Amino acid sequence: MTDPYATSTHDPGSDPGRDPARDPGGVGDPVRDPWRSSMRLALREAARAVPAGDVPVGAVVLGPDGELLATGYNEREATGDPTAHAEVLALRRAAAELGEWRLPGCTLVVTLEPCVMCAGALVQARVARVVYGAGDEKAGAAGSLWDLVRDRRLNHRPEVIRGVLAEECARQLTDFFRDL
Ligand SMILES: [Zn+2]
Repeated sequence: MTDPYATSTHDPGSDPGRDPARDPGGVGDPVRDPWRSSMRLALREAARAVPAGDVPVGAVVLGPDGELLATGYNEREATGDPTAHAEVLALRRAAAELGEWRLPGCTLVVTLEPCVMCAGALVQARVARVVYGAGDEKAGAAGSLWDLVRDRRLNHRPEVIRGVLAEECARQLTDFFRDL
């Protein structure tokens, strides 16, 4: 299956870095697998949104060396703030941590494909990369409905890696809506 949004076409079977202990079946995904542990952190953040009635979306920002800079989860209901999406909160905290608005070399990992606001925010923050789990066919702005983050008219275009733990991320959302 070809994925137009995967950023690498490299064949996992020929990956010299592949760890056979971690990947006994030889079906590892060298593009997505490195982000799984960060996505699990984002999933845990997302779960924190639920008690306030917020849709479970969680995000983490990693620094250039992969260190955890900031986390966030959707707090729209909790705070009555239309901009309190997980990504915006995590980007703000990461910027506060670094002491500046630019986040070069940083990676935003989020459980759901960013909306237009968050896609705009991450381009503004100059993040190097956005990694997301579930796609959002109705409102996604990183490849589904729009592809704002890779619009060639913009002078900063983050790398996009989609579909990391996509099923777990989607399940968390469908469980939330089913239980309403
Ligand atoms: Zn958003």
